[in-house]
Amino acid sequence: MTKVLAVANQKGGVAKTTTVASLGAALVALDQRVLVVDLDPQGCLTFSLGHNPDRLDSSIYDVLTAGTHAKEVLLDTSDGVALLPATIDLAGADAVLLMRPGREFALKRALAPLRDQYDVIIIDCPPSLGIMTLNGLTAADSVLVPLQCETLAHRGVGQLLRTVREVQEITNPDLALLGALPTLYDARTTHSRDVLSDVSDRYGLPVLSPPIPRTVRFAEASASGSTVLAGRKNKGAEAYQELAEQLVGYWWGGKELATYATHHS
Ligand code: ADP
Ligand code: MG
Repeated sequence: MTKVLAVANQKGGVAKTTTVASLGAALVALDQRVLVVDLDPQGCLTFSLGHNPDRLDSSIYDVLTAGTHAKEVLLDTSDGVALLPATIDLAGADAVLLMRPGREFALKRALAPLRDQYDVIIIDCPPSLGIMTLNGLTAADSVLVPLQCETLAHRGVGQLLRTVREVQEITNPDLALLGALPTLYDARTTHSRDVLSDVSDRYGLPVLSPPIPRTVRFAEASASGSTVLAGRKNKGAEAYQELAEQLVGYWWGGKELATYATHHS
């Protein structure tokens, strides 16, 4: 059965897009058929997977607002994931959907005819809690929250968790909150670790393991149009590979996801 994962946090720069691209490529390396969906008008996911949003004739915008079949806008990528791309047009989607009944369900309906062709669908949510993120959470079976390990990184986590609970009550009772994924992690500082245990205590939110280490390879990769998984062996790629293995075990092997607390005690 296909698994649909939303990657969401209304804060920008916490590695949502990086996580979607890298985890997608890591799952492909595990022989999964993977589709990634760009829900951010900035089109960073689209760009980082080698497609220039400014040169695309159609995108997820047409799928969500004009009833274009998703398969007509699907793109291939060198990492082997299929991509539903975004362009700046998507900035106007909220206004169009606002006038429609069931506006939170547009993405879920658009993905329905594609589901069978993929094992995993990963949705890159924009940095807001607007209609696009509500569409992502409504279409998903589970949600992962990337969290940068720095002071105040968790401001806004309470609001995000409230939104997740509201989606569970109103549009998607089956949505499971997998937990926070620590990103841009610097193992040399105790500070990163303090932030993580604080988040887990304060919000009762599982903190997944392994944390994704900060490495310069990510910037190099997104400029090259493919993910860190494509380059030389490095710690960032290994961490996403391990996360991908854990998710496969969780989804199809009935295993628990490793959390930060158990990892370190
Ligand atoms: P978001 O989608 O949450 O806004 P991005 O995935 O675009 O965040 O990441 C923000 C910036 O951080 C990008 O420049 C990206 O290359 C960089 N980045 C992401 N993960 C890492 C990492 N583990 N180490 C170093 N830089 C990273
Ligand atoms: Mg992003």
